[in-house]
Amino acid sequence: MLIDTYGRVATDLRVSLTDRCNLRCTYCMPEEGLQWLAKPDLLTDDEIVRLVRIAVTRLGITEVRFTGGEPLLRPGLVGIVERCAQLEPRPRMSLTTNGIGLKRTAQALKAAGLDRVNVSLDTLRPDVFKTLTRRDRHKDVLEGLEAARDAGLTPVKVNTVLMPGLNDDEAPDLLAWAVENDYELRFIEQMPLDAQHGWKRDGMITAGDILQSLRTRFELTEEGSTERGSAPAERWIVDGGPHRVGVIASVTRPFCSACDRTRLTADGQVRTCLFATEETDLRAALRATPAEGADGTADAEDVTGSDEEIARIWKFAMWGKKAGSGLDDPSFLQPDRPMSAIGG
Ligand code: SAM
Ligand code: SF4
Repeated sequence: MLIDTYGRVATDLRVSLTDRCNLRCTYCMPEEGLQWLAKPDLLTDDEIVRLVRIAVTRLGITEVRFTGGEPLLRPGLVGIVERCAQLEPRPRMSLTTNGIGLKRTAQALKAAGLDRVNVSLDTLRPDVFKTLTRRDRHKDVLEGLEAARDAGLTPVKVNTVLMPGLNDDEAPDLLAWAVENDYELRFIEQMPLDAQHGWKRDGMITAGDILQSLRTRFELTEEGSTERGSAPAERWIVDGGPHRVGVIASVTRPFCSACDRTRLTADGQVRTCLFATEETDLRAALRATPAEGADGTADAEDVTGSDEEIARIWKFAMWGKKAGSGLDDPSFLQPDRPMSAIGG
């Protein structure tokens, strides 16, 4: 098991497949993009599948979420999903995507074994989408969402970040649209994970603001608090049901004490938290040539590059997971890597 010193057990693995993206969301990356990882530094498809296999068969991972950057930009995505679906025990698999290109790939992803998608969409207005993402691709996202629903990648969840002065007046319209289209909407509080370090607590739209805005048009009933479990979204029943809306209040109501996540970056680093400032290198172990003990003379644990050794390094990294994100600590330091490079 991946257990930490606070007794939390990680069963949910987020795998970043690339740090690249075809959008430039203002809360995520600058207009000019970022210094992308070099190809040799990225894990290969085989390496990713191997790490997922180790996580599922040796470390108790039951949920795998592929993310990025934009995971649909990874050429081998369908093959990776297909191979992970054959693992025993089979993990539940989902994808977090901006939806561009999903129209083309949704059916193939479903056939490969993907269970669900989360599609990010912050606005119903094409002009606001262009301002927020710096790209004119609103229609592609809407089409991607429909294709995901039609392919049965359900429940289709929609992730929305509200930005002051841009789309903060859209919460009720987005919820009405989501209910009508059978998508589950989840608002995410903006976090200090942008490459430009432009986040300000003062200006951010809080979960409280979002709920207040939604209540101008909908009756919201809180789901029993026990249902939140380790899921970061607190959910509300909309107008008596059956639809729900979620709010991920990572800043104002953090859920660190129930966190069940472990993260793998596209270059093979384990991170115990989005806000961790330390990483543990699994790629070096993966790529190490089996040397000492490869002939069976040493303990399997000591064999460089063996599954046992990689599992041991991963467990050790998780053991050191901090109690919380530290966002409320005056000494909080934003991690060096932005969200797009960690895997959101
Ligand atoms: N490109 C894909 C997408 O946008 O869905 C996957 C990666 S993206 C980093 C994952 C999620 O993180 C998206 O829903 C995005 O809106 C969210 N996100 C990015 N930067 C954020 C920030 N600073 N605060 C809160 N959420 C953020
Ligand atoms: Fe790309 Fe997702 Fe970041 Fe937007 S939030 S720039 S879509 S990685």
